[in-house]
Amino acid sequence: MKDLLDDIYANIGLSPERGGVATYIPELAKIDPHQFGMCVAAADGEVYTAGDAEVPFSIQSVSKVFALALALGKVGDQLWRRVGREPSGLSFNSLLLLEREDGIPRNPFINAGALIATDIYLAGSRPKEALGQLLRFVRAASDDEDIHINEMVARSEIATGHRNVALAHYLASFGNLHSGVDEVYGTYCHQCAIEMSCRQLALAGRFLIDTDDTPKLVSRERRRRIAALMMTCGHYDGSGDFAFRVGLPGKSGVGGGILAIAPGKASVAVWSPGLNRYGNSKLGTEAMEMFARKTGWSVFG
Ligand code: GLU
Repeated sequence: MKDLLDDIYANIGLSPERGGVATYIPELAKIDPHQFGMCVAAADGEVYTAGDAEVPFSIQSVSKVFALALALGKVGDQLWRRVGREPSGLSFNSLLLLEREDGIPRNPFINAGALIATDIYLAGSRPKEALGQLLRFVRAASDDEDIHINEMVARSEIATGHRNVALAHYLASFGNLHSGVDEVYGTYCHQCAIEMSCRQLALAGRFLIDTDDTPKLVSRERRRRIAALMMTCGHYDGSGDFAFRVGLPGKSGVGGGILAIAPGKASVAVWSPGLNRYGNSKLGTEAMEMFARKTGWSVFG
């Protein structure tokens, strides 16, 4: 496994064609695109790394996996009254479908749906407490206390994320946001600004692998459903392409991170800040594709 990761680093991690970093969040525009890390956390607890696997990065939308698990833990299947589970076929921050579909976002991984998950885990507590719960979940999953929120990144997004504010107001206009728009939006931006290294992220994903040795933070049924949503909706309108090329459930973030799950085998994290046209890590996707091809791992047998 270590040789494979070194091979991926040498072949893909050092590629000159790296895609462009996200610029719509000013703090993320400052990130050096010449970075690449990868980590495999195996079901048996072994951890393998290559490249910049210890460098913390902004996990952004990868946080939506943890937020969904936390929100489901709070309200269970009632969550599905407020958000759907179909791919959107549109960009992550699209407003288009919300109007047509009466304020019910297509899935919990597009921004509108993720705002609902945030609203659910925020209910009844203050943003700081709710974020504390989310951090506790992530720290417990990775068995690492050294995971924090980057306040500068959160503020940078809060100041400039007009589309997400619009989405939040739109949801509120349909009665599908229970806390105030500012509270939900601020909590969402802080959630996205969690920083983790590839090592921490791969370890945190082990609760989705499901073996005797992995953390039991959600039931088996829920784990399967979260993985199904990662497969169908985890890469926005690039989800079909990711399923086709990689064949593993995955979730991307505009910070350039991807978390993928090989059920029963391993949790895999990759990070390279440059993005492809869908807003997913360019080299990260290529690395996952090579990883899946070389290991032969796929949920499709
Ligand atoms: N915080 C980002 C946003 O809402 C997350 C998007 C992403 O990572 O895909 O725009």
